[in-house]
Amino acid sequence: MKKGEKSKIDGIENFLCPFTDMYITQGANEGTHRGTMGVDVRGKVSGTRYAYYSPCTLKCIKTYPESGQVMWQSTKAVRCSNGYIGIVTLMTAHDDSMNAYPGLVVPQGNKLGNMGTKGNATGVHCHIECSQGSDTSWFKNKYGIYMFNNEKDLDSMCYFDHTNIMNRKEYLKPVYTSSIKVENEGKNYVNLPPHIDTWRVYRVKDTPVKRNSIGLLRPSKFKGLSYYIYSYLDHGSTCEIQTRDYGRCKIYIKDTPAVITIGYYKY
Ligand SMILES: [Zn+2]
Repeated sequence: MKKGEKSKIDGIENFLCPFTDMYITQGANEGTHRGTMGVDVRGKVSGTRYAYYSPCTLKCIKTYPESGQVMWQSTKAVRCSNGYIGIVTLMTAHDDSMNAYPGLVVPQGNKLGNMGTKGNATGVHCHIECSQGSDTSWFKNKYGIYMFNNEKDLDSMCYFDHTNIMNRKEYLKPVYTSSIKVENEGKNYVNLPPHIDTWRVYRVKDTPVKRNSIGLLRPSKFKGLSYYIYSYLDHGSTCEIQTRDYGRCKIYIKDTPAVITIGYYKY
């Protein structure tokens, strides 16, 4: 990716490769990365402390100042190049100028850090190690090397738009955001805003009155909720959606704070 780059499709950020020029000096499973998906990356000119950028909007979970190391997690579900959509957790290391602190949020495209030599490093680089999931466990594997659960290599994580891949072209199978197909593009979504605490749910065939309610959605708990609309029912006053807890059901939307959008999830 390049500085300031943002990439979002259907309301979901695409996880980009944080590097503009990427020269891999040690790949996954090699040397000090045994049993892990950690990758060491330098920039165009060896020894230069190039900046790298936030692959999606990330929040700092934890820092390890002695090695210029930061554990990051996406603030929302993001799209990865292997099709995964969900929370990602990653580690960056060796940034001599590291000034992150827990709670810091770095928007997609902003500077995340600089390549460096802090900690156990020979030569200026960024060590990056990514996992698909929200698990922040950081444990020693059977080779005595720290890692996450469910780690993935860079080509399963990243879209390589605007990244100049300088070596290991046979090792990486780069995927680009131009290949993303959005299933429900151009269709309608109903968005329940985050300031609403609860929203009643009804069976598709029932009359949408209070006594028929089968449960509640909780928009505020999830910072807003968005659903694909399968159909409009009851003369357009309700719509049919698919929910995790109640399966296929309907909600009342006429003259309410619900916002209908075309082609994208709002929350
Ligand atoms: Zn490394």
